[in-house]
Amino acid sequence: MAELLPIIELGNPILRQKASFVENVHNWSIQKLIDDLMATVAKANGVGIAAPQVAKSHRLFIVASRPNPRYPNAPEMEPTAMINPRILANSTEMVKGWEGCLSIPGIRALVPRYEAIEIEYLDRNGKPQKQEFSDFVARIFQHEHDHLDGIVFLDRVESTLDIITEQEYQKKQGRGE
Ligand code: ZN
Repeated sequence: MAELLPIIELGNPILRQKASFVENVHNWSIQKLIDDLMATVAKANGVGIAAPQVAKSHRLFIVASRPNPRYPNAPEMEPTAMINPRILANSTEMVKGWEGCLSIPGIRALVPRYEAIEIEYLDRNGKPQKQEFSDFVARIFQHEHDHLDGIVFLDRVESTLDIITEQEYQKKQGRGE
């Protein structure tokens, strides 16, 4: 049975650590962590979650884009565990878009990210996967990948003027901005 895990928040030093590579994807504790992260991100209306956010400093995250109350316009995809992920190439173009983070509740910010990336990772069966992502899913990947290096989205904002509250963000969404 998957368990819901407590999410740690900004200020907890684990969020600022560089996570370690996963040596054995087949290890039961890693497989259980994947199941638990999937349950936790779904319950929290997230579109991604990284292992350091539940105080497990491993290079592993879930990308689970789907429309939900926190991200009504997110594209639908099968929740995917990405282990030891790497960015192989990126577009020169960067685009600013709104992000939030389950570890930084109540805050949204406009964050510049590469528009498109080519990435690789091990899937939960230990099989290497290579994919290209663009737009919102590329944004999720870059946000989660940063968590593995102790970086949060607020570190990437160009100006503090690009930071707003969740409540103001929801009003903007309601106005279609
Ligand atoms: Zn986050």
